[in-house]
Amino acid sequence: MSTPGSTLTSQEVVDIVRTTNYGTWRFQKSWNPLHIVDAKDCTITDGNGKQYLDFSSQLMCSNLGHKNPAVIASIAAQAEELAYAMPGYATTCRAELSKLLLEILPPSLNKFFFTTSGTDANEAAFKIARMYTGKTKIIARYRSYHGSTAGSIAATGDPRRWAMEPRGKQQGVIFAPEVNCYRCPIKHTYPACGIACADYLEHMIRNESDVAAVLVEPIVGTNGVLVPPEEYMPKLRKICDEYGVLLIADEVMTGWGRTGKWFAMEHWGVVPDILTTAKGITSAYVPLGLCATSEKIGAFFQDHYFSHGHTYEAHPMTLAPAVATINEMRRLNLVDRSAELAPYVEAKLRELKAKHPSVGDVRGKGLFWAVELVKNQTTKEPFNTYSDKVSGTPLLVDQIAGKCMADGVIIQAWVSHFVVAPPLIVTREEIDRGIATLDKHLALADAL
Ligand code: PLP
Repeated sequence: MSTPGSTLTSQEVVDIVRTTNYGTWRFQKSWNPLHIVDAKDCTITDGNGKQYLDFSSQLMCSNLGHKNPAVIASIAAQAEELAYAMPGYATTCRAELSKLLLEILPPSLNKFFFTTSGTDANEAAFKIARMYTGKTKIIARYRSYHGSTAGSIAATGDPRRWAMEPRGKQQGVIFAPEVNCYRCPIKHTYPACGIACADYLEHMIRNESDVAAVLVEPIVGTNGVLVPPEEYMPKLRKICDEYGVLLIADEVMTGWGRTGKWFAMEHWGVVPDILTTAKGITSAYVPLGLCATSEKIGAFFQDHYFSHGHTYEAHPMTLAPAVATINEMRRLNLVDRSAELAPYVEAKLRELKAKHPSVGDVRGKGLFWAVELVKNQTTKEPFNTYSDKVSGTPLLVDQIAGKCMADGVIIQAWVSHFVVAPPLIVTREEIDRGIATLDKHLALADAL
């Protein structure tokens, strides 16, 4: 029983939800949601008592795993003490979280705005960047995702943006090619390219006027765990500095130990001017987003009107669990654990690639990996493209993920790849089980 006192059967739950709610990013008629009633550590239980290994931390957000007692206790305690206060007030949990952030984030990122999602953290970032620079344009990249509200979907490079174009064009976003060394969109090969994708972005800045910021996912998440080459971020930082353009790092998915560091930008020693995050900040126990800016940007608003805010901004019920989450992550040493388990996961995924002709590439960092399928390893021809997803054509990766689910493993599938991103508390046995299940069902792709 997931909701105390409810007398609904599992089938009634599914029917009511399916017929009365929107199913996100899909055709409504193809939505048949699983009824989840319980989750503990890396295990999820459905309404029929069947158990599943959570191999993608739900939406790459349940980093601590499910039912962490300290986080649960923090929610109960905060509800008892103070469930809500207007954003203009100081609360103890707000101060405690800010203190922790000062310890974890790079020292120059010391001014915080608390939101309730990654989407609105990015909206805040765009607004702050535009107010601070007095400029309008944001350069984002194709194959990126930054959220679902007007501004953040307009800054999203992947075709989730298409449904709201051409209105999205009015949001002042232009797109640079994505950084994807496996399928370089400008047909270069690393390292001979000399990081031509960064040069291209510089060319854009030089030939546009009015550029406020460059927006990047440090490691592109949903769109395939695209890890940039070592030189890219330092080069981008230099370009932004040279042209007086802000660098915004969207660490909504990559933050909080997911890639083996607290934040992915640490892999390259690059500090952005604005960092946005959400998901792992509370391990998804409650909805919290954060927009952290540099001291310099913060100082600008000392005597400029900060025209932004929400009723639920800095909501105590979201901040106290973030404090508990971060303390638990530290106690369990989960950032190091993510880094330590990376070679184990990588070796197993490389074995998959060697064994299956349908696996074109495996890539990632920490506990954040993609397994990309191809019809042919040499030509890299994909089984499906984004257009298939948008048009509702059944996708091979969804069929395989469905088979994994039937075998008790939940894995994220997206267009032509799987995202392997278990909770950071995952055991080696669970990693073995998840990858073995994928291994078994990749036979379906090999046979095509
Ligand atoms: N940015 C990135 C990189 C994301 O992965 C997501 C969500 O998956 C978002 C922004 C939007 O965050 P939210 O879904 O919390 O609004």
